[in-house]
Amino acid sequence: MADNKIPYKIYLTEEEMPKAWYNLRADMKNKPAPLLNPGTGKPLTAEELSPIFCDELVKQELDDETAFIEIPAEIRDFYKMYRPSPLVRAYCLEKKLQTPAKIYYKFEGNNTSGSHKLNSAIAQAYYAKKQGLKGVTTETGAGQWGTALSMACSYFELDCKVYMVKVSYEQKPFRREVMRTYGASVVPSPSETTEVGRKILEMHPGTTGSLGCAISEAVEVATKNPGYRYVLGSVLNQVLLHQSVIGLETKAALDKYDIHPDIIIGCAGGGSNLGGLIAPFMGEKLRGKADYRIIAVEPASCPSFTRGRFAYDFCDTGMICPLAKMYTLGSGFIPSPNHAGGLRFHGMSTVLSQLYHDGFMEAQSVEQTSVFEAAEQFARVEGILPAPESSHAIRVAIDEALKCKETGEEKTIVFGLTGTGYFDMVAYEKYHDGLMSDEIPTDEELEKSFATLPQIG
Ligand SMILES: *Cc1c(COP(=O)(O)O)cnc(C)c1O
Repeated sequence: MADNKIPYKIYLTEEEMPKAWYNLRADMKNKPAPLLNPGTGKPLTAEELSPIFCDELVKQELDDETAFIEIPAEIRDFYKMYRPSPLVRAYCLEKKLQTPAKIYYKFEGNNTSGSHKLNSAIAQAYYAKKQGLKGVTTETGAGQWGTALSMACSYFELDCKVYMVKVSYEQKPFRREVMRTYGASVVPSPSETTEVGRKILEMHPGTTGSLGCAISEAVEVATKNPGYRYVLGSVLNQVLLHQSVIGLETKAALDKYDIHPDIIIGCAGGGSNLGGLIAPFMGEKLRGKADYRIIAVEPASCPSFTRGRFAYDFCDTGMICPLAKMYTLGSGFIPSPNHAGGLRFHGMSTVLSQLYHDGFMEAQSVEQTSVFEAAEQFARVEGILPAPESSHAIRVAIDEALKCKETGEEKTIVFGLTGTGYFDMVAYEKYHDGLMSDEIPTDEELEKSFATLPQIG
């Protein structure tokens, strides 16, 4: 296909949009290890999970056999409001870099939450409503998940309680107000409103919080209040399942023009956008149908894949959540308050952890200042101000494109542009004023955190 025939933006028609999510686990020979009950050390059953999560979501969480799960019509209708998201050919960036590489990005920032998180929020709210619940609780780091969930809850008229990591609550008052606009209540975490919050505050006075702390608080509130369940915006299998809509659309758009990507790149916090973006491609790879280089990009300040341990660990600081086998820095790890809040989680999706462990994907860690350098370079030519999280993927996409410039290879690179950075201007300000630092944990700090890993098997 001649390049000049490929449009700047490849859209799908409503008819071409995915009608089912794709469950990558169905094609994995080595399935991700099951979640364990921290009390008994045994795999969690649906009964044990049902006080925490909605029934339908428990089913999705535990299902590693069904390849395609139908997207309910109500959710597909909601998707149509802001999807399909465009797959953009970054002609302007290519030109600026003078690279022979062909760069595409899937842009998920085209909704008020400013990120891909709405794809799963609307699904989780739908199932909560269908079950007749009153409301849901959750945590949010940078605020994108909380915003997405607030939007989804107000659409289905559900109550929404958000525990927001304290450093973000203070740094991002505008996100907090967006959530309140949609009717959510927002509490800075750790807080005095929960038992676990009070315990964490006692142990770490003055802490700026972490996603792990906020999860513990949200779970406690959900399990103590009848008619409430807890929802999570990343890490879980169900979230990766919902996010597969990103990858399915990307694949359909590429297939329309017979484009075969060589490299697929995504940022990785808990792994949901990356897991969603790569799902159909990884599926082909697992079935031996095609091969792709897949790269996860994480911050050097919170390097779960590149420096973590593949072990069972708690998903939260309060150690009340199920144990998951994943690449982890230890549930006690509190990353330095960097500016990519969505990437500050100590663990990683069990699906991606298993795939990484089995050699199906690579991982790189990048430093904050180089991420913002890439963000700015991108913003100046592509007309989108990227989120700091997304800019991790931009960094590596640019690096790969520059390698092509040296070798003359015309590789096709696809990366996930997960969101916009309009609420992250404090971070951009720090970068412009030369006040941004790269805080990388020392080996000693990580060893200390690994020592808290639970002893399993
Ligand atoms: C939350 C978030 C991420 C990281 O979360 P994943 O679950 O790893 O995808 C990345 N980008 C943006 C814009 C986010 O809001």
